[in-house]
Amino acid sequence: MTPDDAPAPTCASCRTLLWDTEIAAGRYACYRCEDRGAEQLHAIRGAFKRLNTIDGLTKPQNGVCGPTGTREAPIPPRLAVLAQTGPGGVVAQLQAGIEDSWRNALGWNPGPTRSLSDIDGATTFLINNLPWACERYEEIADDLEAITRIHNTLTSLETGERGPRKFTAYCATTHCTGQLRITLWTSHATCPTCTTSYDKTALAGLVTEYDAAAA
Ligand SMILES: [Zn+2]
Ligand SMILES: [Zn+2]
Repeated sequence: MTPDDAPAPTCASCRTLLWDTEIAAGRYACYRCEDRGAEQLHAIRGAFKRLNTIDGLTKPQNGVCGPTGTREAPIPPRLAVLAQTGPGGVVAQLQAGIEDSWRNALGWNPGPTRSLSDIDGATTFLINNLPWACERYEEIADDLEAITRIHNTLTSLETGERGPRKFTAYCATTHCTGQLRITLWTSHATCPTCTTSYDKTALAGLVTEYDAAAA
């Protein structure tokens, strides 16, 4: 049905070719990207709740006075965590950055402004409407990217790492010894040696350092 010279439709987010059923449904993003988005939103909810606790914030001890009567500097709160759980943090980013646009596209009234800690409300709205957005919302790729970014930020705050854990995957091209440094969330990568490019599905099929260690 598609003319031969027309480019095959690809997922707006990960750029892999869409399946026939996805094309028939007129989707912008593939089912795998939808699943990953939902998985990341659930993970964001959990990480936010764990970080938004007294332990997560290392609450300053107010009112402690030193021997000279001067107030001791409080234990510094983890400002990076506060930036995500406070004003302008994750809940605001999910609502103002994504939810409001979806409501607008759906012709719905804007929702009430969520409280800073209403991570359940913010993620539930997006999880419930993600199937619609992946199918019908043209800007979905940007939003999936934003969700991945928020997810990675919270994950790195929790683990103390600078990003999601990277690992080595070995290029599958014959005679190429190239290594790709990827994470579980990498949607495409290029072999630095032979420049073969891999989409998410192809990356999942590569032998990794974990396979090598297990062998
Ligand atoms: Zn995709
Ligand atoms: Zn290669």
